[in-house]
Parts: sequence; C-alpha cells; structure tokens
Amino acid sequence: MKIKVLGASGSDLPKHNLSSFLLDGTILFDAGGVTSCLSFKAQQRIEHIFITHAHLDHIRDIPFVADNIILSGKLKQINIFSIREVIEDIKSHLLNYKLWPDFTVIPNTQESILKLNIIEEEKTIAVNGYEITAYRMNHTVPSVGYLVEAKGKRFFYTGDTSSAPDTWKKLAEKKLDALIVEISFPDSMKEIALKTGHLTAQLFFEDLKLFNYFPKRIYITHVKPFYKSQIKKDLKNVGQKVKILNGGEVIRI
Ligand SMILES: [Zn+2]
Ligand SMILES: [Zn+2]
Repeated sequence: MKIKVLGASGSDLPKHNLSSFLLDGTILFDAGGVTSCLSFKAQQRIEHIFITHAHLDHIRDIPFVADNIILSGKLKQINIFSIREVIEDIKSHLLNYKLWPDFTVIPNTQESILKLNIIEEEKTIAVNGYEITAYRMNHTVPSVGYLVEAKGKRFFYTGDTSSAPDTWKKLAEKKLDALIVEISFPDSMKEIALKTGHLTAQLFFEDLKLFNYFPKRIYITHVKPFYKSQIKKDLKNVGQKVKILNGGEVIRI
C-alpha cells in the first residue's frame, strides 16, 4: 500500500493542504485539497473517493475533480462512498446546481461523472483489491473512519473525531500497521476540542489504551498549524513516538 498524503492540515493556508490521502493513485480518502497539488493527469486516475464526513475541509475539491474530468474529454465515472447522512448532505448542499453543477447527472444519469454510493457502517466492501470498512467516529456531524485491509496489511484513518472509545473497542484486536489519527488542538484547549469534536494528544492516548495491539506506526493529521508546536510538545510529554504529517509525504505499508 502506498499512501500519498496530499494534505493533512486542519486549516487552509499556503503550503498547508486540507485532508486528502491518495491510496495507490486510485482511491482517495477525503477530498479537502486535491486539485491544487495533484497533476491533471494524476487526477484522471482517481476511481473512488471515500469521505469521512461532509465538512467542507474534507469535501471541497469533489466538484473541482469532477470539473477536471469533464475538461479532460475522457469521460469516466468516479465513485463517492460514505454513510447515508454524509452522502445526503453532499447531494443536498454541494452538488445541487446552486453551489455547483450536479455532476451526479452530468452528462447523463447513467454515465454521470460522479456516482454517490451509500455504505453501511461495519460492513466491509471490496474495492480494487482492498477491503474497506467504515466505523462511526465521534464528531459534531455524522462521521466515519475507514479501516483498509489488503494482503494481511491494514491501516485506519479516523477523519475528524473526538474521543471514540466504542469504535476503538471494536478495533482492539486489529493489528494496525498504521493509524492515521487526527489531533487538532493542544492539551491546553481540551474543552474546545471536546466541544468541536476533535482530539488532543492526551485524549487520544487515553483512547489508545483500549487497543490490545499498539499500532506499528502512528501518524497525526488535521493539526491546526497555529498550535503545531504546542501539539508537538504535548506528544513528547505523552512519551510515544508519533509523526505529525505535513502533507507531501508517502506512507508505505
Ligand atoms: Zn469536521
Ligand atoms: Zn476537518
């Protein structure tokens, strides 16, 4: 598995791209910052997009990816996957002919550029040789994280979440090769983190105790750049080795 981190920032600033992780060039997890950092040619290779939740910093580039497919002249269909609430919000609020053309019916309903697919929580689907399962996370809006497995290797990507003990208990027996987890706020802002459905280092490491197998590698995403140095210190205090993603890295599993 080769995961290219297109963006892993919790805020949109120059050189800080929003959440987007590209697996083996064809499967995208979240689409916050795609078109500004992925070549036109590479965009044409995207086949599936798994969305964690409908917040704008995770879906913003869906319309622009679709627009670029039309411009390429080589019509193809991209599958968008998520749970029912997320798919409904994307359809109602983003692809509604008001904010942007509805690429789920362009150029026609059978051969549309985007196809919306509802998946059920904890029901594994097979895509391009991967087994992908959505698990409910704990955010201010309906939100899932994704367990991705292939050939005995597996990683989990949380999307946005606060403390989520129920989900971690379900994953406790999984031996994760990598965990990509959000930490948006420093420990000093724990109350705000809880209120806005995010994690601090301390909150996360409390949750991590629920795993029976410690993930081999832990990558931190969705850090707000203003708090990066504080979060770095918090992570040191907890004493675990983790890596804060900046965007641009390649994770090989
Ligand atoms: Zn969010
Ligand atoms: Zn977010």
